Amino acid sequence: MAGQAQDITLPDGSRFLPDDVSFRLTSLSGVGLLERCERHKGLVLSAIFLCPLLLYLVFFVVVPSMAASAVTLLPNSVVEATGRQSMLLIEKMALEPTEVDPTQQDKINALWQDSLNQLKLDKEKYRLGFYRSDFFGANAFALPHGQIVVTDELVAKLAKHPEALRAVLLHEIGHVEHQHSMRIAAQSVASTIALAVVFGDLQGVAELTLGVGSVIMQQQFSQDMESQADDYALHNLEAHGYKAADFATALKLMSSDRSTEQDAWSKYLSTHPQVGERIERALNYQRAK
Ligand SMILES: [Zn+2]
Repeated sequence: MAGQAQDITLPDGSRFLPDDVSFRLTSLSGVGLLERCERHKGLVLSAIFLCPLLLYLVFFVVVPSMAASAVTLLPNSVVEATGRQSMLLIEKMALEPTEVDPTQQDKINALWQDSLNQLKLDKEKYRLGFYRSDFFGANAFALPHGQIVVTDELVAKLAKHPEALRAVLLHEIGHVEHQHSMRIAAQSVASTIALAVVFGDLQGVAELTLGVGSVIMQQQFSQDMESQADDYALHNLEAHGYKAADFATALKLMSSDRSTEQDAWSKYLSTHPQVGERIERALNYQRAK
């Protein structure tokens, strides 16, 4: 390093430190280049600016995207365990036992089984549950292991439109098939661990187990993820003899009754941006042949 004496260790273990700090044994390879870089003002200045940028890219772009793609490699048992734990957490914090009338539940379950058959999905994996929830309002969500939750409020809102409810269920299955909640959780886990390892603060890592649960509670899916789940629903509606427009109906109904259900509406809007655009897309959807 420029300004420091060259330190040479000899074969017998003894060390040679010249008194003159700028003295260099020029025959040693590699010394020249490094030293030239360290003396170059432009390089030093750009390193000051580029290092933070590089760190930012590594921690907030490279590591998260690597984690997101690594999610597909996770064994099922991990996804299953994460999903179950998150469900326990959400149940405790935001769900109450359902009050949906059993005959109505049977009807929806029949529609659900019907959809699973058509999609050739694993019935052991995909399970539907009804819960009352003031927190979620009229809403549906999916856990990474295939548990789908529909709230009583949503069932009531779509009571006269079973085809719209089917569309919502397909959208939720889309989130599971694309492993969206696991991706988001893996991204935040990976960034936190990378930062913890580099800066030596491992305190935050303890909070990671809450990851997936809070992702779902806050419904932080990106717009890309919502579009991907929408596409899954629209494609499969058309592919199995229903209408992509059914999904538009669902979105319209879920975002209606503004005046009477201010809370549900604002919650719905905050978790599902661009409802208008999505309705438009469902109405104009043409399945790629
Ligand atoms: Zn969604």
